[in-house]
Amino acid sequence: MTISSDIIAAIGNTPLIKLKQASQLTGCTILGKAEFMNPGQSVKDRAALFIIKDAIARGTLRPGGVVVEGTAGNTGIGLALVANALGFRTVIVIPQTQSQEKKDMLRLCGAELIEVPAVPFANPNNYVKLAGRLTAQLAASEPSGAIFANQFDNVANRNAHIETTAPEIWRQTDGKIDGFVSAVGTGGTLAGVSIGLKALNPNIQVAIADPPGSALYHYYAHGALKAEGSSITEGIGQGRITANLDGAVIDRAYQIPDEESVPLIYDLLQHEGLCLGGSSGVNVAGAIRLARDLGPGHTIVTMLCDYGSRYQSKLFNPDFMRAKNLPVPDWLEKRSNIAV
Ligand code: PMP
Repeated sequence: MTISSDIIAAIGNTPLIKLKQASQLTGCTILGKAEFMNPGQSVKDRAALFIIKDAIARGTLRPGGVVVEGTAGNTGIGLALVANALGFRTVIVIPQTQSQEKKDMLRLCGAELIEVPAVPFANPNNYVKLAGRLTAQLAASEPSGAIFANQFDNVANRNAHIETTAPEIWRQTDGKIDGFVSAVGTGGTLAGVSIGLKALNPNIQVAIADPPGSALYHYYAHGALKAEGSSITEGIGQGRITANLDGAVIDRAYQIPDEESVPLIYDLLQHEGLCLGGSSGVNVAGAIRLARDLGPGHTIVTMLCDYGSRYQSKLFNPDFMRAKNLPVPDWLEKRSNIAV
C-alpha cells in the first residue's frame, strides 16, 4: 500500500512530463515538472510547506497560531491548505484588483481575506507592507501569536527547491540534464533549483525566462535592473533582487513576450492535454530558446507552475484576450453543432 499520511505528504514528487511539440521543434528533450499536480494546484505548495515548517522549528509558529501573508494567489492557497492540515489559521491581505477566482479559491481554502486598494510597493499601504504590520498587531493580540510568511525574502522558500525540486529533477532524469529554465516571482524556484542542481553538476545551464514589465531580464543580461513593457502573465515578474534570488548563479536570460508564450499555452492544452496558467507558457518558451542555444540532443527541464482553470476569466476568456490584442484560437470560441 502507498498511503500519504496527510495532504502535506502529497506535496512535491510531481511527474516530469515530456513536452512533445517543444521537443520535436528543437531536437532536444524538453521536460515539464508538473507542479499543477500539487494539492493546491501550484508550485507554491512547496514554499508554503517549508515556510510553515521553518517557523514551527524556530518556535515562532505555535499550535493555533496565525500565518499572515500578502499575496494574490498561489502562495496564499498553499499556505491555507498546509495551515488547515496542521491546525493554524491563515490571514491573507490581497489587493482588490485580483480576480474573483483567486479570492473565491482562497476563501474556500479557509483563509481570512482582507481586501485592500492596490498601491505600489513604495506606498506604506501596499498589501505586502500592510501584511507585515498586521502580523505585528496579531502577534500581540492573538493568544498563540502570528508569523509573517514573507515569501519574497524568507529563504525557507528557496530551501524548498534546494531540498525537494532539484533532487527530484536529478533523480527523474538520472542526472542527464543539461539545462533548467524558470520565470521568477519571488525567485524561490529559480534560485533554489539552480543552487540544488549546480551542487550536483555545476555545468548545468540555468536560465531565467522573464516577461516584459519585469526588471530581471535586464539585470541578468546587462547588469542593471530595468523594466519595460507589460504582460498578462500572473505570479511572475520582479523589480528587485529578493533575498531568495540573492547569490544564485543564473547563466542566461530570455525576455518572453505574451505573443510568444500565450500560443504555447493553447497548443499544450489542445495537443498535449496540459491545462496550464500563463507563467508555464513563459517557461516553455524559455526552454525552447535555451534548447536552440544549446543545440539538438540536450535535455532541458522547466516548470509547469499552476493549473489553467485559475485563469478562466483572463487567459481562457476570448473577450479579455481580444481586448489585449492577443491571439484567440478558434476552438476556445467554438460551440458544439452536434444535434441531439
Ligand atoms: N508561476 C506562478 C503562477 C506563480 O504564482 C509563481 C509564484 N508567484 C511563480 C510562477 C514563480 O515562482 P517563484 O515565486 O518561486 O519565483
